[in-house]
Amino acid sequence: MYNLHTHSLLSDGVLLPSEVAVRYAALGYKAIAITDHADYSNIETIIKGILEFSRHWPKDSKVKVLSGIELTHLPLEQFKPLAKFARQKGIKVIVAHGETLVEPVIKGTNRAALAADIDILAHPGLISDSEVKLAKAKNIFLEITTRTGHCDTNPHVVEQALKFGANLSINTDSHIPEDIIPPEQVINIAQRAGLNSEEIKRIFERTARFLDRRTI
Ligand SMILES: [Zn+2]
Ligand SMILES: [Zn+2]
Repeated sequence: MYNLHTHSLLSDGVLLPSEVAVRYAALGYKAIAITDHADYSNIETIIKGILEFSRHWPKDSKVKVLSGIELTHLPLEQFKPLAKFARQKGIKVIVAHGETLVEPVIKGTNRAALAADIDILAHPGLISDSEVKLAKAKNIFLEITTRTGHCDTNPHVVEQALKFGANLSINTDSHIPEDIIPPEQVINIAQRAGLNSEEIKRIFERTARFLDRRTI
């Protein structure tokens, strides 16, 4: 079981990266990415912190921790340069904060993020056909989320991804201890979004292959 979208107090989460890791390990997760919110104001600080943390996290720990970032509420032209910057610095998982319906995300964010070098488009809201095709062509994961509000459009995202063959990633987007939920609950939410057990299994197998590529 993996989770590629979590927050720590490097942005608006309440836990230290180490407590985030320890709590996921206790629930049996094998790998997580810590992906704090970034824009031009804080990206260098976050990257420095999370790289330092992940480098020192014991290699034999029950849970692997990948360095990540979530490019959030950016003016559209900033997705490409900031994704490139994060990649060059060695960040393993680049998430973009997509067009959820519960926040005033700038229109066009899904497309601008998909045009950049990102790994996951988080909570993409009512993502369009052409955006899903772009995600598929660029091998970018579309996210199914357990997060309240963002999760309202899960059924739409599942339907679109299955229709066009785009890859999905199932994540918690956790900010506080209560968001760090057991794998069974995550699977339950994925099933309610319209995925069957076989599809969920395949999603996690694909996630495992992505993690292998990122941790070499
Ligand atoms: Zn987000
Ligand atoms: Zn997030």
